[in-house]
Amino acid sequence: MTAMTPVPYRVTERREETRDTATLVLEPCGAPIPRVRPGQFTMLYAFGIGEAPISVSRTGGVLEQTVRDVGAVSRALVGSGPGRMIGVRGPYGVGWGVEDAVGRDLVFAGGGIGLAPLRPALLYALERRRSFGSITVLIGARTPADLLYRAELDGWRERGARVEVTVDRADAAWPGHVGLITSLLGLVDAAPENATAFVCGPEIMMRLTAQALCDRGMADVRISLERNMRCGIGWCGHCQLGPWLICRDGPVVAYRDAAAQLSVKER
Ligand SMILES: Cc1cc2nc3c(=O)[nH]c(=O)nc-3n(C[C@H](O)[C@H](O)[C@H](O)COP(=O)(O)OP(=O)(O)OC[C@H]3O[C@@H](n4cnc5c(N)ncnc54)[C@H](O)[C@@H]3O)c2cc1C
Repeated sequence: MTAMTPVPYRVTERREETRDTATLVLEPCGAPIPRVRPGQFTMLYAFGIGEAPISVSRTGGVLEQTVRDVGAVSRALVGSGPGRMIGVRGPYGVGWGVEDAVGRDLVFAGGGIGLAPLRPALLYALERRRSFGSITVLIGARTPADLLYRAELDGWRERGARVEVTVDRADAAWPGHVGLITSLLGLVDAAPENATAFVCGPEIMMRLTAQALCDRGMADVRISLERNMRCGIGWCGHCQLGPWLICRDGPVVAYRDAAAQLSVKER
C-alpha cells in the first residue's frame, strides 16, 4: 500500500442532480480514508479508465461526491450505480476553514458544480447554527434544470440560511432571478468587517464575485482553485500555479493572495 493506492469504496446510492451531474454516496469496503474536512477533495478512480480530483460534497458518516460529466473519467463516475466499486485516495488539500469563522457572518457563493465543495461547509455551519451570525447562500446556475441540490434548498432556508438563486437563462415559468450571481450581492445580509465569504465556481465567476465582495469591504474572502491534477499529493507539479501546488497548498486560498494568479492561463 503506497500513497498512490486507492482504497476500495462501493457506491450505495446514486442521486441524479441534473442531466449531466450525479451525487454518489460511497461506503468503504474495508478501512475508510481518514476524516474529511469541508473543502477537501479526493482522487476518485474509475477502474480501468483513470482518476480525477473530486471535492467531497458531504462529510461525516458517509462520503458524498457530486460529479459532472465532462470527459472519460467523470462520465464513468457519473454513470456508476449502486454496487459499483470506485477507488478513493485522500482526503487532500486544505479545507475551507469554516471552523475558524465561528461568530462571523457567512456568505457562500457557488456557481454551477462549484456548489458541491461549498455544501459540506454550509452543512457544518447549519449544524452549529447558533455559533455563526447570518448565513447567506448565493447560487448561480446556467438554467433552472442545471440547479444542484434543488430538493435541499428549502431545508437550508428552514435551518436559518438565506438562500438566493439566479440563472443565466430561463423561460417564463421560472419565477426567480435571471442574471449573474453578482446581481445577488445586494441581498447579502452580512457586516463586511465581521464576515467570511466562501466562493467556488468557474474562474471568471470567482474573480468577479470575490472582487465585488472585497469592494464592499469584506477582507476575508476564500476561493477554491481548480487546476488539472495528476498525483494529488504534491509530487508531480502538474497543478502548479505561481508559488502553489494547488493539490497541496490549495485548493482553498485567500482571494487577496490569489487575485494576481487568477489571470494566469492553464498550460
Ligand atoms: C480540487 C478539485 C476539485 C474538483 N471537484 C470537482 C467536483 O466536486 N465535481 C466535479 O464534477 N468536478 C470537480 N473537479 C473537476 C474534475 O476533476 C474534472 O472535471 C475531471 O478531472 C475531468 O476529467 P475527465 O477525464 O472526465 O475529463 P478530461 O477529458 O480530463 O477533461 C474534459 C475537459 O475538462 C477540462 N478539465 C479537466 N480537468 C479540469 C479541471 N480540474 N479544471 C478545469 N477543467 C478541467 C479539460 O481541459 C477538458 O476540456 C475538481 C477539480 C479539482 C482540481
